[in-house]
Amino acid sequence: MARKHEGRAVGIDLGTTYSCVAVWQEQHSRVEIIHNDQGNNTTPSFVAFTDNERLIGNAAKNQAATNPQNTVFDAKRLIGRKFSDPLVQSDSMLWPFKVIAGDNDKPMISLKYKGQEKHLCAEEISSMILSKMRDIAEEYLGSPVKNAVITVPAYFNNSQRKATVDAGSIAGLNVLRIINEPTAAAIAYGLDKKNDFDGERNIFVFDLGGGTFDVSLLTIKGDVFKVKATGGNTHLGGEDFDNRMVNHFADDFKRKHRKDISGNPRALRRLRTACEKAKRALSFSVVTTVEVDSLYEGIDFYSSITRAKFEEINMDFFKECVRIVENCLNDAKMNKSLVHDVVLVGGSSRIPKVQRLLEDFFDGKDLCKSINPDEAVAYGAAVQAAILSEGFKNVPNLMLQDVTPLSLGWMLEHNVMAVVIPRNTPIPVMKTEEFYTALDHQSSVLIDVYEGERTRASDNHFLGSFCLCGLPRYAAGLPFNVCFNIDQNGILTVSANEILSGSKNEIVITKDNGRLSTKEIEEMIQEAENYRVEDKKFLRKAELMNELDDCVYRMKNDLNLSSEEYQQINSLVTMATHLLDADDSQTGIDVLKKIQRNGEE
Ligand code: ADP
Ligand code: MG
Repeated sequence: MARKHEGRAVGIDLGTTYSCVAVWQEQHSRVEIIHNDQGNNTTPSFVAFTDNERLIGNAAKNQAATNPQNTVFDAKRLIGRKFSDPLVQSDSMLWPFKVIAGDNDKPMISLKYKGQEKHLCAEEISSMILSKMRDIAEEYLGSPVKNAVITVPAYFNNSQRKATVDAGSIAGLNVLRIINEPTAAAIAYGLDKKNDFDGERNIFVFDLGGGTFDVSLLTIKGDVFKVKATGGNTHLGGEDFDNRMVNHFADDFKRKHRKDISGNPRALRRLRTACEKAKRALSFSVVTTVEVDSLYEGIDFYSSITRAKFEEINMDFFKECVRIVENCLNDAKMNKSLVHDVVLVGGSSRIPKVQRLLEDFFDGKDLCKSINPDEAVAYGAAVQAAILSEGFKNVPNLMLQDVTPLSLGWMLEHNVMAVVIPRNTPIPVMKTEEFYTALDHQSSVLIDVYEGERTRASDNHFLGSFCLCGLPRYAAGLPFNVCFNIDQNGILTVSANEILSGSKNEIVITKDNGRLSTKEIEEMIQEAENYRVEDKKFLRKAELMNELDDCVYRMKNDLNLSSEEYQQINSLVTMATHLLDADDSQTGIDVLKKIQRNGEE
């Protein structure tokens, strides 16, 4: 009973480009998606730092064009990864903010806040977005929110999941559970309860978001959710469609005005914002206009685009999506006719052409789209949060079973990757394979463990290494066993043994290296609190400035001031403004009150 009053539990979809928060409303027995202060159900996953404040969400995204180096987005692409990770390297080249290597090869974002250089890790940026989502929920519910279920992509590895938990802790949230985004979407549609016939229910989740495309094939049998296979493209999503439209209109502008805007970042940003809006509109209407006042060299830009044109310029992307769907089913060796449900997730899956192509691929199957696709994940997370925090009756206790997102193996001679556990193998799993020594009189074998799909081991991700030593010095071809074991939590142990000599050795690979320590998390929680206090102070200051303006305005109108009096008041106001700026709010308020009193006298 006491637990119920410990604060509400929410579900948070922490997205690469947009995040969403939802809560189970017990009195109505339904999930409510919580809108932010702008009235939107999703909030940009953006954090920005300026000379005098920190901004999160819409406010941060809106000023991105004028403050690119200090506006951080895409933190989800960094979380739980190493700086030297090739993906981090290639992504960094595209970001306007700076990413540098910190301790333990941890990527750190370097930016300026209040004139000082700051280094923040991805967990901290994500924690800021999470606190924003919590604030949104608290504002709406009018009560504190402590507990949350947070979602991650199905392919997230152990360290990415743990880093997401850390981000929650830094935000002061108690993370009840991390669940897979596609699983959350399936829960949102109640597909877990539609399991009334014998056997398995096969669910295909199609998630086309802002920057990424993820597909997953889930099966539910009894209470067990199994991720059978995942696939996708980490750089395919709504932003690509926006870019195509930007290029289309930049050409249009060139044709009409003989001017090239492609070298002007500000013009491009403003055009991109207009294009995203137009793209959203085209999911509901067949033609829309794009208008940007004074786009370039004072020229206003007005144009229109039809849905057909939008489809035409993005058709290769849309077809690529279907190809990836097909690949994922092939990976899982499942015929598409065996899929019971196709669930649409991600804002970009609202695009009618995408839906049509997918329907056609699944031979006219009805798609699950009654819940807004950009809200389905948070929706399911909220259901899960309610189950975990309040012990509702009649809700099955869901067990989630994962697969290894990447193949695991070790390096043979000539840099060849010997896969022991192929990707998409359900875990826990243990697999032993026999290998043979390559050289005569070989007394030891070095086992370098890698994860990845490349045939050259060194192109894959190195996980650790150990030596099987003390082998009898026989001719080449001496057999020995290598065993890969992944437990329930995704922790990999690799062992090797040779029977004749009885030699054996093993290594535990937790993928934990680079994870934050408890002490670091505590320090970051303190930091987060400092940011909160500063944000509050800034807000208070802004409110005071506003009061001041209002007060002067009233005085000007209410009293017939002589020009001398007006000047006097103005100089007082200037002084109060300076005091507010110097963060001496109390004196500022005192002066303000004095002005007010004088005015009233
Ligand atoms: P994330 O990828 O971060 O999980 P979402 O699933 O919310 O984020 O997807 C965001 C993307 O969806 C953005 O590119 C946005 O422009 C796009 N989007 C949102 N609504 C629509 C719509 N009605 N039509 C087309 N695209 C949309
Ligand atoms: Mg998403």
